[in-house]
Amino acid sequence: MRLILMGPPGSGKGTQATRIAEAYGVPTISTGDIFRAKVAAGTPLGLSAKAYMDAGEYVPDHITDAMVRDRLSRPDCERGFILDGYPRTLAQVGELDSMLADQAARIDAVVVLNADAEQLIERMLNRALAEGRADDTEDVIRRRLAIYAEQTAPLIALYATRGLVEEIDGTGKVDHVTGLLDSALMRRVSVRGEVG
Ligand code: ADP
Repeated sequence: MRLILMGPPGSGKGTQATRIAEAYGVPTISTGDIFRAKVAAGTPLGLSAKAYMDAGEYVPDHITDAMVRDRLSRPDCERGFILDGYPRTLAQVGELDSMLADQAARIDAVVVLNADAEQLIERMLNRALAEGRADDTEDVIRRRLAIYAEQTAPLIALYATRGLVEEIDGTGKVDHVTGLLDSALMRRVSVRGEVG
C-alpha cells in the first residue's frame, strides 16, 4: 500500500493517515510532523524551516525533498507507506516520481479529503486552542489555504490523468470519513486487480 493523502490544511489528513497506517501496517510519513519535531529539537533543518512554517509558506522544495528521500529509503517503507503532506508542489511530484523509480515502486492511490474553507478555518482555530500550533492563527490559516489552492490543488488534476485519484468528503465525523477512505482504498485494490 503506497498512498498519498491530499487535502487542504485542516481537512483531517493527519488523523486519517494514522488510522489507515495502523490498519495496513505501514508507516505514515507526515512532512508537517517531521518538520515540527525538527523545530522542537532545534536542529539546523528545523531552524531553516521554522520561519516558513510560522508564516504559512511552504518550506523550499530542496529541503523537503531531501528529508522525504531520506525517510522513504528506510527499511520500514519497503512494504509501503502513507504520505501525509507530500507532495505539495509540481516539482515535488517529479522528485517523488524519481524516488519511487529508484525503488521500482509506484503509488496505488491519491486520496483527496475535501472540505469547505469556512469549516477548515473553524477546525484549525479549535485545534489552536487544544494544541497551540504556531501556524493556527486566522491570518496564517488563510495564507495556508490560499497557498494550497494555488500550489497543491493543481496536483489533483495531474494525478487524475494517471488514474489514481479518489476524492472523498472530509466534512463528516472522524469514523465516518475513515469508512469512506476504507471504501475508496477497496475500490483501488479492485481497479488494480482489473488493470493487472
Ligand atoms: P497543514 O496541512 O495543516 O498546513 P502540516 O502539518 O501538513 O499542516 O504542515 C505544516 C507546515 O509544514 C506547512 O505549512 C509547511 O510550512 C511545511 N510543510 C509540510 N509539508 C510540506 C511540503 N511537502 N512542502 C513544503 N512545506 C511543507
